[in-house]
Amino acid sequence: MTTVHPALSYELYPPRSHASRESLLRTISELEHTNPDYVSVTYSGDAARKQNTLALLDYLVHETRLNPLAHLTCVGHSVAELERSVRLILGLGVRGFLALRGDIPDDGSQKLELPFARYLVDLIRRVEREDFAHLAAGKVSVGVAAYPQKHPESASTLQDIEILLSKQRAGADFAITQVFFDNDQYRGLVDAARPAGVTMPLVPGIMPVTSLKRLLKLTELAGLEVPRDLAYKLETATSKQELHQIGVDYALEQCKAVLDAGATGLHFYTFNEHEAVLDVIEHLDIPRYSNRFNLPLAELQFA
Ligand code: FAD
Repeated sequence: MTTVHPALSYELYPPRSHASRESLLRTISELEHTNPDYVSVTYSGDAARKQNTLALLDYLVHETRLNPLAHLTCVGHSVAELERSVRLILGLGVRGFLALRGDIPDDGSQKLELPFARYLVDLIRRVEREDFAHLAAGKVSVGVAAYPQKHPESASTLQDIEILLSKQRAGADFAITQVFFDNDQYRGLVDAARPAGVTMPLVPGIMPVTSLKRLLKLTELAGLEVPRDLAYKLETATSKQELHQIGVDYALEQCKAVLDAGATGLHFYTFNEHEAVLDVIEHLDIPRYSNRFNLPLAELQFA
């Protein structure tokens, strides 16, 4: 019987300087050796950063063997601009999107033509239907966000589940979760979503965190509870090596827990760094340097 290993994917963000570009290219090359199923690229409505996202997607399609998944947000765009962006990204050769609303700036400067991610899923599916011939009748894969800890704007976790279901009904194929540090929250999401009718894969987003500063910034930005045990260990570590090991061990335990809870894939938030993620994967039953479907690709040859 063929063993199907968990799907593997990474999140990257577009670099903001020449130095970070060089380091990202090294990371991409290291991650490429692990044969991930896809690599997601974050997005911002800000014009300069949007260009960087497109440039990174272009690089991944044309210079690597990786399959990019393009994040896209409602924030910062009219419907017409979003349609253009979807077509532009499809034109680069990308065949997957993560449809997001984006974070609304506090200053009230944003009036959204598409107020929620669900409508962006609709829009991508509409473009897919209209561009049927260009896509050779193929499907575009559309993912959405899911939240193990309640989204800060939602009234309840029940509302989060209803919204997730509405995104699935609009045509989402899968969801990737917000980063989380309490595995019970992921189990809680799955246990509430399945009876409600959410059948799509809920891919856990895992981040090996190797610095207290990053942990505190991240939890503040995402509105997450600070994981006390991890924060304490990072705070009292006495060397860089110890910090690295703490982050790797914590993420590894999380991976084992979510796979036990039935997750069919692992999505790593990399922060454009490969060392910690590769150390986590090394200890999981995910074959590196081979394809995860155990197909004899090496035997495929032109006559
Ligand atoms: P939605 O699903 O639209 O939900 C937003 C809020 O509105 C929720 O509280 C929801 O309950 C509520 N809501 C939705 N529909 C309705 C309705 N019909 N009536 C009433 N309330 C409703 N942000 C970026 O800017 N760039 C990125 O690249 C990016 N990548 C991300 C990747 C992942 C895996 C995740 C989990 C998040 C990412 N984000 C990114 C952050 C995301 O944009 C924010 O979390 C944002 O606040 C919500 O986006 P959403 O797609 O979940 O929105």
